Amino acid sequence: MSDLSPTYEIYAVKYAGPLVGSVAMLLWNTDWDQKIERNYYVWVVRGNGETLIVDCGVAPALAEARQIPGYINPAHVLARIGVEAFQVKRVVITHVNFDHISGIELFPNAAFYIQEREFNFWIKDPIAKKPPFLWVSDPVGNAHLAKLEGTERLVLLDGDEEILPGIELLLAPGHTPGLQVVAVNTTKGTAILGSDCGHLFRNYEEEIPSIYITDLVAWMKTYDKVKAKVSSLDLLFPGHDVKMSTDYPKVAEDITRLV
Ligand SMILES: [Zn+2]
Repeated sequence: MSDLSPTYEIYAVKYAGPLVGSVAMLLWNTDWDQKIERNYYVWVVRGNGETLIVDCGVAPALAEARQIPGYINPAHVLARIGVEAFQVKRVVITHVNFDHISGIELFPNAAFYIQEREFNFWIKDPIAKKPPFLWVSDPVGNAHLAKLEGTERLVLLDGDEEILPGIELLLAPGHTPGLQVVAVNTTKGTAILGSDCGHLFRNYEEEIPSIYITDLVAWMKTYDKVKAKVSSLDLLFPGHDVKMSTDYPKVAEDITRLV
């Protein structure tokens, strides 16, 4: 990104949690006997007259079915900082797990940006119907995504691409086959919304992924790629760390400004 690129602010919008699970789930088989909390988020990138949403969150019906603790409709949380979901024009889908795709219908007028290989795997590959993948899928959300193919509301990307001045999507496989992260020009330099490229800040600090893996070797290469791109490690944000709620300035209930 050039020095002339506009800068943006990034907000973490917590819509569920805390959920409690073994540390080992989020830090590659370490500390099975210890517990850790995690939250669910969507993110807002705002600046230069644009409002970009990163990920869709979970739809109310699925939150009910999965009994997700602390759930609030993501559209209702977004409204607290003046973002009306039905007016949103652009949404980045980092990857097609239920907690990132299920709420796709909350954004009925948006175009969705997704890596083509991620779309093809979850929507078209029979392997995605096998139990380990079904467990992290929302068939309803995936069906809504599939329906958009061939329309202007679905933008399929093949690798790294700058979609707005100062906002670049980077292919970052490992957690899923075609996960993408969002590199954003900010006043502090290039920040990266990593989504579940790393669930916690510690995944990047210690170079240990979670146990939710489709390709461990690709994951290690992705860590190198995003670390080379981001201006400093504290600007590399994970997908589920509770620190995004607790350690940053609060701008509304459940919403913090990351940078
Ligand atoms: Zn996730």
